[in-house]
Order: sequence, then structure tokens, then C-alpha cells
Amino acid sequence: MEERGWEIFASEEDEPDKDSEVFFNPEMKLNRDVSEVAGHVFHQKIDVDDFRVCDALSASGVRGFRYSEYADTLHLNDINPEAVRRLKKGLRSNDVEAETFNDDANTHLSEHRNFYNFIDVDPFGSFTRFLDSTARAANHQSFVGLTATDNGPVSGSYPKVCRRRYGSKPLRNSLMHETGLRIYIKEVFQNFARFDKCFDPKICFQHRHYSRLMGRVTESKSRCNKSLENIGYMTFCTDCRWRTLERKSRCEYCSSSNVTYAGPLWTGSIGDQRFISDMIEKTPEEWSEALKLLETLNDEVQVRTPFYDIHKMASETNVQAPKTQDTVDRLEKKGYIVSKTHFESTGVRTDAPFEEMRNVIKSESTS
Ligand code: SAM
Repeated sequence: MEERGWEIFASEEDEPDKDSEVFFNPEMKLNRDVSEVAGHVFHQKIDVDDFRVCDALSASGVRGFRYSEYADTLHLNDINPEAVRRLKKGLRSNDVEAETFNDDANTHLSEHRNFYNFIDVDPFGSFTRFLDSTARAANHQSFVGLTATDNGPVSGSYPKVCRRRYGSKPLRNSLMHETGLRIYIKEVFQNFARFDKCFDPKICFQHRHYSRLMGRVTESKSRCNKSLENIGYMTFCTDCRWRTLERKSRCEYCSSSNVTYAGPLWTGSIGDQRFISDMIEKTPEEWSEALKLLETLNDEVQVRTPFYDIHKMASETNVQAPKTQDTVDRLEKKGYIVSKTHFESTGVRTDAPFEEMRNVIKSESTS
């Protein structure tokens, strides 16, 4: 098996339960493409002689191989001894230098306090059980990437599990993936803040069955305190679809008390436009899926307001749904900031007031 020219020794299993099997999921290529480029951009932004990278849950080691392009010190770790055997084979065959470990990631990271500049945490399910040790191992100039395949609870399929694991109430409507991603970011931010370390999202997205969060870490109490402003709630009116990133007991558009809320969650931006545009520059032209995602995110991180699903808005106002692009063009002509969203092909994110959004949908559907 190979990915982007790196040879991999693993089996293509969904979630191997035997220790003789080593996990490799080709569907995570986009995740790895974006992560490789993000690490590269971060590496160029900081000034360290020894850029230390840890792939804490390596499996075949494919991420580590890819990060070897810019790592000065590379540590690959997995709890499964067979994975360590296979990733050593991969290191030899790909001519990559790295130190390998067969530890529990929590032990490994806790023993490397304030050590790493880039930590990748890519577990099965949720990353929550690795947050403390990741926060310990990060220093003032660190970048952290975390994957979660636990989207059911945070997107409202299992609200009790969400409350138990993340301490938040999710939503089960067109905004469920956005609220889910925001609940994940809140969870990372708050866990890091307990160590006076601030997680600052640089690029966060949701794709198919997983979410990926990548951000810069700094040791700064004042930054943590300032970012606490970004922990809050989202309110959604089930009568007219009005929404706001605040907790309200009544809809400010139609005055209905049929409002529901999600949170606590991250109400700040899900990415940093300058960082993402640097990533676009660095991404090879032929990595088209990654480029498409980055270009959408580059636009969408400019607007914080949760996205509008054009189809759902049109059906609520009893009109035929206009094309997403026509809605974008019309709002742009009116001078609003507007973009598509990576969460939904029929979604639009804009700073236009709710009334304006409804009017545009009505006028586009009749034009
Ligand atoms: N990062 C890999 C990639 O991109 O192909 C996939 C990693 S796979 C989803 C998760 C890996 O974590 C498995 O290889 C498993 O053996 C390992 N693992 C599970 N629990 C662990 C723990 N507590 N410490 C270290 N590794 C662990």
C-alpha cells in the first residue's frame, strides 16, 4: 500500500480488534493532506532550531512519514506492538529517521512535558481521554492536531452521551455539524486552559464521519482569559430559523418562545484566514480535494454567524429554493460578506441580517 509516495505496511480494516492488525484508512487521506500542510505552515511561522514532532497514535506511521519532510526530531508511538513493528518497516523502506515508542500515548506525552512543537492525536472515537497529556506535552510554540470520529453525540444523535463526554447540549437540526465542531473546540480550549495554555483554532473542519481540529498553543494566562469570551451558546428559533451565538429565551426576529439552544460551545472563528491562505499557497495543485476544502474554509472563517441552509429557509418561507450560487451573488451585490460553507452544499454563511437573508431567498426564488 502507498499514500502520496510513502510505502505503508498495514491492513485496510475499519477498526481492527486483533492486535495482529494494523489500522490504515485510505479515506483519511484528506485529513492527512491537510495536516501535513498545516504542520508545514506552522513550522515556517516559528523560529526553533529543533522542530519536534510526535505522532502519538501512529498505527502504520503514515502521518509521521509525511511529517518527516520538516521534522528535525520525529517520535512515532503506538500502544500496539505489531503497529510498532510495521511502522519500523515503513521507516526503513521510506528511508525516514525517527525514534519509535510502544507506549500508552498518555504516558508518553506526560513524560515529554513542554517538549513537542507539533503533536498529532488521531484515535478511534473521541480525543477527550488524550487532552490532558497533550496539553502537558505542548509548549509555548506548539501546534496540535486532533481527530474525532465521535460525531454522533456532538451532532445530537446521543444528547446524553454528549452531556456526559463534553458537558454540552447539542442540536439535532441543519446546524448539528457546526454545533458539533464548536462543542469539540470548546472542549479542547477548556482542557488546555486548565494548564494555562491557550488553544487558538487555525483550521477546524468536519468531513464525512470525522472532525479535525488544528490549532496553535501558547502558554499565556492572559490569552486564555481573553479567549474565554469565545465560550458561549447558540440559540435557534424552531419557528422561523433565526439563530444567534448567544443564549436567548425568545426569538429576536419573530418573538416566539419556541427556541432551542446548544452549548456551551466555541463561539469564535473555526479558523484563521491568514493561516489558511498560507496553506493554500503550500498545497500541491494536484491535491484537489484539499484545495477545494481550504478555499471554502478560507472564505467561511470570515463570518461567525452560523450558516443558513437555503433549502430549509426556502421551505420555511414557502418558496422554491434558489440556487446557492445565486443567493451568494445577490448578497454580495448588496455589499455583505458571504461565503459557501464546507458543512453543507446548500449552505450560505453571511453577515447579512436575518430579515435580509429571508428577503433574498424570496426574491431569488421568484426571479
Ligand atoms: N494515525 C493513523 C493514520 O493516520 O493512519 C491512524 C491511527 S488509528 C485511528 C489509532 C491507533 O491508536 C491504533 O493504531 C491503536 O493501536 C492506537 N492506540 C489506541 N489506544 C492507544 C493508546 N492509549 N496509546 C497509544 N496508541 C493507542
